[in-house]
This record gives sequence, C-alpha cells and structure tokens, in this order.
Amino acid sequence: MRLALTIAGSDSGGGAGIQADLKTFSAHGVFGMSVITSVTAQNTKAVIGVEDVSPEMVYLQIKAVFEDLPPDAVKIGMVSSESIIRSVARGLDEFGPEKVVLDPVMISKSGHALLKPNAVEALKKELLPRCLVVTPNIPEAEALSGMSIKGVEDMKRAAERIMSYGCRAVVVKGGHLEGDALDVFFNGREFRELKSEKICTRNTHGTGCTFSSAVAANLALGYDLFTSVRLAKEYITVAIKNSLNIGGGVGPVHHFY
Ligand code: PLP
Repeated sequence: MRLALTIAGSDSGGGAGIQADLKTFSAHGVFGMSVITSVTAQNTKAVIGVEDVSPEMVYLQIKAVFEDLPPDAVKIGMVSSESIIRSVARGLDEFGPEKVVLDPVMISKSGHALLKPNAVEALKKELLPRCLVVTPNIPEAEALSGMSIKGVEDMKRAAERIMSYGCRAVVVKGGHLEGDALDVFFNGREFRELKSEKICTRNTHGTGCTFSSAVAANLALGYDLFTSVRLAKEYITVAIKNSLNIGGGVGPVHHFY
C-alpha cells in the first residue's frame, strides 16, 4: 500500500482542506494520513471561525506519522501563520521527505483569508525550498511573484520568479483567467502547457486542495512529476464536471471511489 500525508486545515463543510485531501487519496487507492494545522468552521457560504492548532502540536503530528508510517508523498495546504510554517519546516528537515507538493493556500473560495499576510514571506523562505513542486492559482502566483498576471506569458515569468525561491518545479494554474483552463508547468528547464475545457459552474469549492492532493497521490503511486500533474489535471476536471450543487453557496467538487 502506498501512503500519502496531507498537512493542512480542516474544513467542517467537507469540501476543501483535509477532508478533500483524504477523499482524493482514497479515490486514488492511496492510504491517507493527516496533520491538522487549523480548524475552520465553514460551509459552502462562509468561513465563520478559524482556530490554529499549536505549532508544537503540528510538529508532534508530523513526528508521530513519520516515525511509524513514513509517507511516499506529502501535500501541504493551509499553514496559516509564521510559527506553524516554521513547525512544518522543522518536521520536513527532520524527516526529509523527497516528494513534497505545496499548495500555497491564501484565500478560501468564499473570500476568507487563510494565510496571515505577514506569513507570505515565511512561506517563500521556509517552505518553497523544501518542496518538489508548488501549485499556485493566479492570485497566489501574483502574491508569491509580486507580478500582475494577465496571460500565459505572464504565467511563465511568474513561474520563473517562483522557482528562484528554491522549489524544483511550479504549476501555475490558469483557471482564474478567461478562456480554456490553461496551466503552465515549469521545471527550470522547460515549460509545458496543460489545457482543458473551462467548465461553467460555481461549485468549485476544494479545487485547489483536490488538485494538489491528486498530484501527491500520483507521486506516491510512483509516477514521475509531469505525469502526476497531468493525471491530477484530468482528475480535477472530472471532479469539477461532477461537482455537487449542495448548500447555498459554492458547492464542492465530487470524488470517485
Ligand atoms: N484549506 C482549507 C482548510 C480551506 O478551508 C480552504 C477553503 O475553504 C482551502 C484550503 C482552499 O480551498 P480551495 O481548494 O477551494 O482553493
């Protein structure tokens, strides 16, 4: 059995965060484990509360998992503060996983800040150099690169800038731009474009979490990085196509077992 770990926040509504990650791991036939960094009280409409887990407890969860159940791949999602980011970096340094996917979560689909503004620098300095691949959407790529992104050429320049912080590959996801859903993959040597049709639905809660955990699941299964990203793009496209019209706000993507 292959094992995958998510280090992320809990979404009580079940659409994003830890819950989306574990559903994605199960759908890929991978055994999922979780380190919870924050508990969010939310549904499809809003985030009504956030409480961070203590940095020490974040570290202890990482230690407990790695000492007994070393994961084949790790996905990192919501890490809301500088002190939690430092605890995660400490855990990564101590246990040295090779395949780490970072989804630089900043804002929920309902518009709530999930990363404190002063933690962006810590994310860049402490986590990007410890990751195999980082998977920002357009607003996240803009925040990380300090550039405004209007089209595919800007996505490529932002990917180069983000690579300079020390990760080994970047996927800039273009779903927020007009036209087809075009993502740019960059590994420091070549750019590759991944295109899929744009699916018109407002039910996109959990897309970022699901895509990055699908990349981690595919890496855990032994696929190379680009194949892992390509298969994750196929998975999220189907999950958005089948997203659920439940709740009164942004409904969740749907997973298949
Ligand atoms: N992580 C947590 C805990 C969240 O609650 C959310 C959104 O609400 C996200 C991540 C980001 O979600 P998405 O995958 O929709 O970008």
